[in-house]
Amino acid sequence: MGEIRVHDKQFEPYLSAASIAERIKDIAGKLNNDYAEKKPLFIAILNGSFMFASDLFKELAIDAEICFIKLASYKGTKSTGHVITAIGLDMDLFGRDVVIVEDIVDTGKTLSEFLPQLKHQQPASLKIVALLHKPEATVFPITIDYLGFSIPNKFVVGYGLDYDGLGRNIPEIFKLIE
Ligand code: 5GP
Repeated sequence: MGEIRVHDKQFEPYLSAASIAERIKDIAGKLNNDYAEKKPLFIAILNGSFMFASDLFKELAIDAEICFIKLASYKGTKSTGHVITAIGLDMDLFGRDVVIVEDIVDTGKTLSEFLPQLKHQQPASLKIVALLHKPEATVFPITIDYLGFSIPNKFVVGYGLDYDGLGRNIPEIFKLIE
């Protein structure tokens, strides 16, 4: 694997398809164990997590449901600032074992705003699985229950993640060359 160009920027190989697949098998093994007999509901956050969610879900050997949502941020009233709403969340979460599937946790802002909304619906449990985490970028600390990789505070593309719309189809993860 050599360098690639997406739009105006150069990226170098960072995580191979094989290493991603291996981590996903590990995570799925833990989930199969922790959620045996529980019939969890996975909620994957689009767009970035579609590839990860799909590969992870294939490795689950338990009864599980999945739904896909999109988060939209809009300007609320002046006191609340930006408000995040979930589009497509048509499941009743009350009493369910919910697992959020996120591509990458960067500052933690998205999840720190969204999780309280989900908790409001009183799920029996609420856990987070994320493929990537940038610990150095943390502004809003989030507990990630199942993590693929901790990565440095660098911009990455591929495996569902885009740079300005492109790069999602690349099967590996590439890191920006600065
Ligand atoms: P947070 O709210 O945690 O700061 O940001 C989470 C979202 O920012 C992710 O779901 C993703 O859409 C985007 N993001 C953060 N870092 C990266 C990155 O390195 N590459 C790409 N493609 N998106 C990122």
